[in-house]
Amino acid sequence: MDLQFTDEEIAFRDEVRAFLKENIPADIKERAKIGWNYLPKEDYIRWQKALYEKGWIAPGWPKEHGGTGWNAAQRFIFEEECARANCPRVQPFGVTMVGPVIYTFGNQAQKDRFLPRILSSDDWWCQGYSERGAGSDLAGLATKAVRDGDEYVVNGHKIWTSGAHRADWMFCLVRTSAEGKKQEGITFLLIDMKTPGIEVKPIISMDGYNNLNEVFFDDVRVPVENRIGEENKGWTYAKFLLGNERTGIAGIGRSKSRLAELKDMARAEPDNGARRLIDDPGFAVKLAQIEADLNALEMYNLRCLADTAAGKPPGAEASMLKIRGTEIEQAINETMVEAIAYFSAPYVHTGLNWQGNEEPVGPKHADGVMPEHLLKRAATIYGGTTEVQKNVIAKAVLGL
Ligand SMILES: Cc1cc2nc3c(=O)[nH]c(=O)nc-3n(C[C@H](O)[C@H](O)[C@H](O)COP(=O)(O)OP(=O)(O)OC[C@H]3O[C@@H](n4cnc5c(N)ncnc54)[C@H](O)[C@@H]3O)c2cc1C
Repeated sequence: MDLQFTDEEIAFRDEVRAFLKENIPADIKERAKIGWNYLPKEDYIRWQKALYEKGWIAPGWPKEHGGTGWNAAQRFIFEEECARANCPRVQPFGVTMVGPVIYTFGNQAQKDRFLPRILSSDDWWCQGYSERGAGSDLAGLATKAVRDGDEYVVNGHKIWTSGAHRADWMFCLVRTSAEGKKQEGITFLLIDMKTPGIEVKPIISMDGYNNLNEVFFDDVRVPVENRIGEENKGWTYAKFLLGNERTGIAGIGRSKSRLAELKDMARAEPDNGARRLIDDPGFAVKLAQIEADLNALEMYNLRCLADTAAGKPPGAEASMLKIRGTEIEQAINETMVEAIAYFSAPYVHTGLNWQGNEEPVGPKHADGVMPEHLLKRAATIYGGTTEVQKNVIAKAVLGL
């Protein structure tokens, strides 16, 4: 097992670094630095189209479908460099989630129709899995699809649907049979969000933003040609997609750049002559602990990459990476809130202050810290909760 990058990999890293430096638009970079998760859709599209034109939008896809053909180490380097350069995160629902399902299980007509528009960001996707009674126990989903000639008629309700209000398409799990085990009656449909009978209602989360939604289906007619694979076999495709979702969630590159920001905050000289945070031994210990944890996770990730490169099939590693990656992300955000102290309250640097004018409130580096902290409380829930990941590890590693 070799954890060092080779000369070719270092040359590749330099090439990526140079491209990002040249091509990320300055205004997007600035906005991404403050609110990585809250960019307008146009920003994501502008950046994703730049990557598309370079041929780098889908690092994980096989070359024949428009991917880069990069190996696991190159993909890791690319992600790390994008985070380091403060690039907006490529929105996962199309490229990381449904795209691989379509090229793996879809028919030729579906590949021709959907893949090019995912790559070019002309179609924006959302994920219709969770329901009120079906989160961790996803197979308990009840949204029903009944076949009527060449169409399915869909009735039911999805919840926590990120970005549904901005999406053109939803990949959706529906119940097509109540016979046998509950996993055996699920079908995977691609649904045009403009179809009559779909209603999207916003959910405002505690960070103050609307990214989450409820989606209601009232006699929504979906052509059978939009079904992936076989009827009642959707659970297989759904699980394949979840594996891809979790692998990308560890966010090591992003945590490294956030930790660097946190260290800058700790080294800043306070205006009031108080000592710097970095000179407070208690605070310095917290920083050191986070850095040690993050280094350990990075080493573990590199070990996983080395194993994959040596042909070892992936096991419970995605779950381990997800648990530790999201815990570290949360620890960084909590420590940032501690670092900016009461300036976390006004939320944004440029908000109106109590006198009603737009004088900045607090230091510039306080921008966006609190919303990100609140948003990331959910990181140990979405993509499968920490408890559920621990169950996966217990089964796969401990044989329980
Ligand atoms: C910010 C955010 C974005 C999301 N985006 C999407 C999206 O775009 N599309 C989508 O379909 N869904 C989305 N989700 C939903 C997400 O997948 C679910 O919230 C998640 O799967 C948990 O399901 P639940 O909320 O129903 O909680 P529940 O499953 O009801 O779990 C409640 C608690 O019980 C614990 N628990 C449950 N089962 C077990 C068990 N077997 N063993 C031990 N503990 C258990 C859980 O860990 C949790 O602590 C999103 C969620 C959030 C918070």
